Amino acid sequence: MKVIVIGAGLTGLSSALELSEEHDVIVVEKEEEAGGLAGTYARNGYRIERYYHHMFSGDEELLNLLRDLGLDRKIEWRIARTGYLMDDTLYPLNTPLEILKFPYISFMDKIRLAGYVLRSRKLNYAEFDDISCVDAIKNELGERIYRNFFEPLLRGKFGEMYREISYAWLLARVGIRSNRGVRGERLGYLRGSFQTLIERMVDRIQKNGGEIITSSPVKKITKEGKFTVKSRVGEIRGDRVISTIPTPVLEKLIPVDLPDIKYQSSICGLFSFKEPLFDDVYWINVKGDHPFGAIIEHTNFIPPEEYGEHLVYTASYTYPSEITSIDKESIARLHSRALEKISSKKPEWWSISVSKYSGVIYEKGYMGKIPDYRTNIEGLYVAGIFSEPNYPERSMNGSIIAGKECARALMEDINDI
Ligand SMILES: Cc1cc2nc3c(=O)[nH]c(=O)nc-3n(C[C@H](O)[C@H](O)[C@H](O)COP(=O)(O)OP(=O)(O)OC[C@H]3O[C@@H](n4cnc5c(N)ncnc54)[C@H](O)[C@@H]3O)c2cc1C
Repeated sequence: MKVIVIGAGLTGLSSALELSEEHDVIVVEKEEEAGGLAGTYARNGYRIERYYHHMFSGDEELLNLLRDLGLDRKIEWRIARTGYLMDDTLYPLNTPLEILKFPYISFMDKIRLAGYVLRSRKLNYAEFDDISCVDAIKNELGERIYRNFFEPLLRGKFGEMYREISYAWLLARVGIRSNRGVRGERLGYLRGSFQTLIERMVDRIQKNGGEIITSSPVKKITKEGKFTVKSRVGEIRGDRVISTIPTPVLEKLIPVDLPDIKYQSSICGLFSFKEPLFDDVYWINVKGDHPFGAIIEHTNFIPPEEYGEHLVYTASYTYPSEITSIDKESIARLHSRALEKISSKKPEWWSISVSKYSGVIYEKGYMGKIPDYRTNIEGLYVAGIFSEPNYPERSMNGSIIAGKECARALMEDINDI
């Protein structure tokens, strides 16, 4: 059985890895390198993710895969501290004392917030899929906590679409227990970047006889008995197709019935500095009039000695309809100026990455929309950041599970014939 996998991000590679044990697999990827959203820049002698990445101690499938590929010794667990930048002042929010000192929420509101978190962990989030997150927080906790705490977080994560977000999403996020101690959260990273994982997956697929074709955007898919996939390398014929690309892109390649999923787009800046921007805080949510919703100081997580410089990401979100008019140079200047205003430090260089379909908008009713791996076209399967394992948060772990589950659904169908 010959299977064509479209897209060499983590979902596609995970599907291909699973299938290549038993079947002929060809992965067709648009970009020059495999990796998708987890891909990297090659800089002065090192690799660094285009979009900030870390892993969690509960990412079981990712950790199992790293072990299986002999990469477990490259995993580093470190404490990552978080903070809130409000009116250009940084408030670290990790220790009980730091939280007590945070001036934008009163002592009584902090107690209410803590009680709310404990209560909401016991709720069945799926029952709240049709309720607006903004309305529910205002009802539960009042306008002040909403405005001073939740609104900047929601805006930072979803841009102006934050009003559409389902309450189920927030409850599911709160329910994910973090590995947080009194100093900060314990997060993981892969020494040498997550590129190491991608390269090992590619190697293993190839050792199993699979093929990976890069720089080859798929232009059309047709089915007449077998599937024909048209790309730069010509026509590839296969018995089954797994698509891991965004659903609106697939719908242009073949007329398939898929739910109308709304996506967000990411704009992520990477800036290099000679000195640290902030003291020991990795993740900073930003409130105020800035062109980004978060600053992620990577070298306050992984030491700067690994890179010989200090690396800082800026994160902002927009929508696919806005992406065509994006000019990376002006974004770089805008973000760079804002970083300079906040820190009085000037970046040495920058790179901007833009992804049109970087995540799903978990709007009201989204849980009812999540597509099955099987589609209405027999033999065509879909998996990716929109699949169930990536709810309520898309992640490397979720994409690895989605890829594997999709490959298994395909193999089950073959065995049933
Ligand atoms: C800003 C940001 C930060 C993140 N941070 C984290 C984090 O800290 N921890 C974590 O676990 N996860 C994080 N993630 C999520 C993680 O990166 C994704 O869940 C995962 O990489 C998605 O993999 P995928 O294969 O499902 O999708 P993608 O990576 O999008 O893969 C799809 C692939 O299809 C290719 N493609 C598209 N169209 C075509 C075509 N026509 N023909 C051929 N190929 C095509 C694309 O080039 C791409 O390689 C982050 C994501 C973003 C955007």
